[in-house]
Amino acid sequence: MQQTTIGQAVSCSGVGLHKGGKVSMTFYPAPANTGVIFVLNTGRGRRFIRADPHKVHDTNLATGLSDGEYGIGTVEHVLAALTGTGVDNIHIEVDDSEVPIMDGSAASFVYLLQQAGFVRQEARKRVYILKRPFQFQRDGKFISATPAAELSIRYTIDYDHPLIGKQQLSFHLRDTSFVQELCKARTFAFLGDVEKMRHSGRALGGSLDNALVLDVSSVVNHDGMRYPDEPVRHKALDFLGDLGLLPYAIKGHFEVYCSGHELNNQFCRHLLDNEAEFLDCCKVPEEHGSEEGDAAMWPVPGENPA
Ligand SMILES: [Zn+2]
Repeated sequence: MQQTTIGQAVSCSGVGLHKGGKVSMTFYPAPANTGVIFVLNTGRGRRFIRADPHKVHDTNLATGLSDGEYGIGTVEHVLAALTGTGVDNIHIEVDDSEVPIMDGSAASFVYLLQQAGFVRQEARKRVYILKRPFQFQRDGKFISATPAAELSIRYTIDYDHPLIGKQQLSFHLRDTSFVQELCKARTFAFLGDVEKMRHSGRALGGSLDNALVLDVSSVVNHDGMRYPDEPVRHKALDFLGDLGLLPYAIKGHFEVYCSGHELNNQFCRHLLDNEAEFLDCCKVPEEHGSEEGDAAMWPVPGENPA
């Protein structure tokens, strides 16, 4: 299987969840072995921040990256769209410090990627394969990982809320499964928390247009839930997005219990920091035809564009 980029540049604009301002974003095709690179228009030139679990500086409500000076917030839904549609190489240019929240799901980003079209590249796709099972846990939450031929997730959440309670979702990443099963699931929030966030100057762009909001016993949004189990679907979407910070796609079965962005990020860092123990990297074989017999398992990664 070959690496994938997009066929042409595509743009969108929307509100930033945390600052509430209008943000424009453009996806550009990128050469093979580039990975995912955010391009920030800072007003003092452009800054490039690679998708990388070690660049995560904020996991409070969303995942934010930083190069030490500049940051880009709320990257997880766009990363989920890339992971879910199999895009390996892309430049994502943003004119503010956060990705637009759109409708709180990954649906708009999937639509944009589909409009741009998917282009197979010369280089072979690289994936991480888990070497052995292991469990990563903190404070009663856990992510357990098991070697598997595909990426699959069984995600469980348990909220003391009559409309959520215990929800469990099984998901296999295959052709269109992300588009059909996860991409429309929105961020959810509880009304009391929304009011507290507003008072502390956070989530200024949050509204019923970009989140599923629940009060003590009902859905505040007039159109209700998009799926009966929309919350757990969104948590699985977030998990795929946080996995999308890894340098390569990953195959394995992930059993996830009550995780969030912080634990997801600690898990990804732990994997990379102990790469020799947990991960093999290989190129995905051709679906038809022979192996190249290439001794170099790791092509030289593309340079960060200047
Ligand atoms: Zn989310």
